[in-house]
Amino acid sequence: MLLYIIPTYICNLDCKKCYSKKYLEEYPNNLSWTNFINIYKFFNLKYNNFAFIGGEPTKWKFINESILFLHNKNKYVSIFTNGIIPLNVVPDNLIITGNNIFDPKLKDNIINNLLFYKENGVKIRLRFNIDITFEKEHLHEAISLSKLFADFVSISILYPMDNSHDYGNIIFELSKKLHYNSIPVTIIRATPLCLFNQEQREFLISNCKLRGKCSLPTNSLVINPDGQTIQPCVELNLKRDISDLLKYSPKRIFTDELNKIRFNRDYKCNTCKFFINDECWGGCLSYLLPNLKSDFNPSQLLKS
Ligand code: SF4
Ligand code: SF4
Repeated sequence: MLLYIIPTYICNLDCKKCYSKKYLEEYPNNLSWTNFINIYKFFNLKYNNFAFIGGEPTKWKFINESILFLHNKNKYVSIFTNGIIPLNVVPDNLIITGNNIFDPKLKDNIINNLLFYKENGVKIRLRFNIDITFEKEHLHEAISLSKLFADFVSISILYPMDNSHDYGNIIFELSKKLHYNSIPVTIIRATPLCLFNQEQREFLISNCKLRGKCSLPTNSLVINPDGQTIQPCVELNLKRDISDLLKYSPKRIFTDELNKIRFNRDYKCNTCKFFINDECWGGCLSYLLPNLKSDFNPSQLLKS
């Protein structure tokens, strides 16, 4: 099971659509060392995988100490980062947002850090967030960067989605090219299946783990910088106190509320075969499906 620790919602960038900004007011203080140790003691027996996510976790003053601490306890450590601030202690796994490397002001710095991590044997996952501004030249750059640095690539829609079907073609083109370059690709987060034509869908489901629904509820958990509040994933604002875990599993704590969200999804999905067959929940549960173009008619999918 995986525990995601958010040590801070502060970040050194201001990426559009990032969920961090909306939580920073609620959690202005960073995780203290004492609370980090308390978290470790609370979860130690059940969790072997610890991930730090943010905000930007490398902005947290104890990030290097905490990686060292967890490694000394034989835990597996992942860091989700924009790659700008170098780590002095390397984790097992780094998830770096590849989109930032397209920015000429950030590129050299991030690439230097990637070279260092690569030399030190860290597993690198480049993550590309897709929206309708993800242009052709980004596609070529994403492939060259992945060939140079990535052990794996994650591709995700940047939610909330814009009102466009172009996401499907961009995700398909990028995934197909990476797959044919023998780079393992995972399409993460629930992705509306109607963004793709049948051929694209079949390819992406077989080769890139495309899914129309996420895996929630799971026993993986997110813990906030107060060291006290838990939620089922970084995007879903369903909050509970850590003490609830003394009675129930994370899965049990969040099931009812998640089901309420699932079954009150957008009316546009109600007649769709993927929705009826429980293959698609209309994208990420945190966001409503936008009014996609008028040629989109989910009920037609019933006939396909
Ligand atoms: S359930 Fe909704 S989002 Fe998913 S494929 Fe059907 S219409 Fe599209
Ligand atoms: S609700 Fe959205 S962010 Fe959360 S696990 Fe599901 S797809 Fe991912």
